[in-house]
Amino acid sequence: MTRVVYVNGRYLPYAQAGVHVEDRGFQFADAIYEVCEVNGGRIVDETRHMDRLERSLGELRIAMPMSRRALGLVLREVIRRNRVRTGLVYLQVTRGTAPRDFPFPAGEVTPTVVCLARRVDDARRDARATNGIAIKTLPDIRWGRCDIKTVMLLPAVLAKAAAEKEGAQEAWFVDPDGFVTEGASSNAWIVERSGMIVTRPAGNAILPGVTRRTLVDVLDREKIPFTERPFSVDEALAAREAFITSASGTVMPVVAIDKVPIGDGRPGELTRRLRSIFHQAAELSP
Ligand code: PMP
Repeated sequence: MTRVVYVNGRYLPYAQAGVHVEDRGFQFADAIYEVCEVNGGRIVDETRHMDRLERSLGELRIAMPMSRRALGLVLREVIRRNRVRTGLVYLQVTRGTAPRDFPFPAGEVTPTVVCLARRVDDARRDARATNGIAIKTLPDIRWGRCDIKTVMLLPAVLAKAAAEKEGAQEAWFVDPDGFVTEGASSNAWIVERSGMIVTRPAGNAILPGVTRRTLVDVLDREKIPFTERPFSVDEALAAREAFITSASGTVMPVVAIDKVPIGDGRPGELTRRLRSIFHQAAELSP
């Protein structure tokens, strides 16, 4: 449960926290966000999340609302006030509030900053990883700049709803050439029968996941063969293992895609190993 939310310099009770109706995040999804894992009360991979936040803001020409150090203090204070040991911390920055009009507002507008933290049930997440998750594939109807972490998430919301309707826990978007781009809120990976791990290269079609990047460090460190190239749905269906990565789920096994079992239909051995060693390579905040 979230008790306290940071909004524009104030720590407010959850029920009283809000932003203006003409906030450009609300009106235009003119906003970006980050979600970091909280593990043992510490933020996982804060540096990479802050790097991506700065990049997303830069691409939208929104000013950094405060220094990285100050933002880090806000994250930590929100985690502390909500007594989160295991969970997530969410940060959103919008262009700010201005009378509704498409062009960027003239003059200085103060970005809106919202931060909240929430506990995640460890046991439930582990149970999910033990069983593995099912995927539904869908055409990728998102825009051409999926590398920017904007709050424009309606295609992901619809995809998750479609997945849920079929008993799947995540959706994988597929480009017009039949190649998987990424998950609705995760990056997509397969392990070929040869043992080679495959994931789509970073570019405009996917969000450069922080978990994805840290997992690449794990693979380098462990000398596990790995390649960045697009893979098709057919390749995924024939794969030995499949998994997704995200800050909220770290490395999560995929056991079925469009109702077809992957491998023997249980979480793969390599996937389980990567999940167990992931945090060894991740940065933990003080
Ligand atoms: N792709 C998309 C579309 C996402 O929404 C997310 C999660 N925010 C990811 C990938 C995974 O990124 P990260 O590992 O930084 O959580």
